[in-house]
Amino acid sequence: MFEALAEQPSDSLLALIKAFAADPRPGKIDLGVGVYRDEEGRTPVMAAVKAAETILLREQDSKSYLGPEGDVAFVERLAPIVLGAEQAASPRLAGIQTPGGSGALRLGAELVAAARPGARVWLGMPSWPNHAPVLKAGGLVVTSYEAVDLAGQTLLFEAMIAALSQAAAGDVVLLHGCCHNPTGIDPDAAQWRVLADLVARRGLVPFVDLAYQGLGRGLEEDAEGLRTVLAAADEALVAYSCDKNFGLYRDRTGALYVLARDARAAGAVASNLKALSRVNWSMPPDHGAAAVRLVLERDDLAAQWRGELAAMAERIRAVRTALAAREPRLAFVAAQNGLFSNLAIDRSGIEALRARHGVYMADSGRINLAGLRLAEVDRLVAALDAVGA
Ligand code: PMP
Repeated sequence: MFEALAEQPSDSLLALIKAFAADPRPGKIDLGVGVYRDEEGRTPVMAAVKAAETILLREQDSKSYLGPEGDVAFVERLAPIVLGAEQAASPRLAGIQTPGGSGALRLGAELVAAARPGARVWLGMPSWPNHAPVLKAGGLVVTSYEAVDLAGQTLLFEAMIAALSQAAAGDVVLLHGCCHNPTGIDPDAAQWRVLADLVARRGLVPFVDLAYQGLGRGLEEDAEGLRTVLAAADEALVAYSCDKNFGLYRDRTGALYVLARDARAAGAVASNLKALSRVNWSMPPDHGAAAVRLVLERDDLAAQWRGELAAMAERIRAVRTALAAREPRLAFVAAQNGLFSNLAIDRSGIEALRARHGVYMADSGRINLAGLRLAEVDRLVAALDAVGA
């Protein structure tokens, strides 16, 4: 039967990792894969997480099954950090642990599709390349619209409002909570209020993807837009990833929060989330969530984590500022948030940067600012000049 399968394209970012690893040039620069890197180019285990893992190793006395909901205390401890204390305590809220933000997106899509088969989701472009496939695989119909002008490095906010004004009540709207991937261009506070108002007026269902909380303007600041929208919406979903802000990537740590119209509906949501979890992965992997729970349960570790996260965000901002200061044409990167900006370079420029200068970026022109050391800023700018980008 398998002859019937069409060959699938390999993930171009994973191919980029391999190409970078195989490049023998000592001065090569990796701006490709979306992970945080320190000034030495490492993606270390955060000290607060290491400390929690040490405690786990010492104290964990069983690895017996937890259940499809995963670590309930993890989901509860995380909720106020994401949603704020008030929403976290709402009887309208249901939450479940998921394998990363990807698992949360998939589960959220499946929940919506179970409630309303053939439901539509509006997706601003460009977006994380996995958004549309995951939402589609979860049973939603994806309608995309242009939301960012890369040449001008601006959010096409009016076009966004115009597109969403065509959405019908009950349609889902996918929004990046902060640190937009792949552009770093987030709505400002006033724009979030307009979005919240539109969502409320038209009865739309925001589905906020928050994968980089704390890596932009700050832990609280990065959640402001999400909270503005949630306060206005009757129903909403939040796909959360701890994989970046706790550095847990391969441990696949995340959660899905769903706000329902009332407590009774939230109960139905909770039971459906468990049922969907059960038929997907039965139960999520425990280790990362247990480590996050331990960090959040202990004041000293929580403070240490906040400090480490703030230092990571600080380094990213320092790289952004240095790049903008060194090259006026790149001034826009200083105003953008999180790991990514998109340099809007054409394919031939991107390939020339790789071949001639050992500078690796995604085929889309997206760069990971954390992949750059401050000491490499001059070299990157010289390479961009040399290829006319
Ligand atoms: N959403 C966005 C915008 C992302 O960039 C990512 C990770 N690259 C995810 C979700 C998924 O994160 P996770 O690794 O936790 O599945």
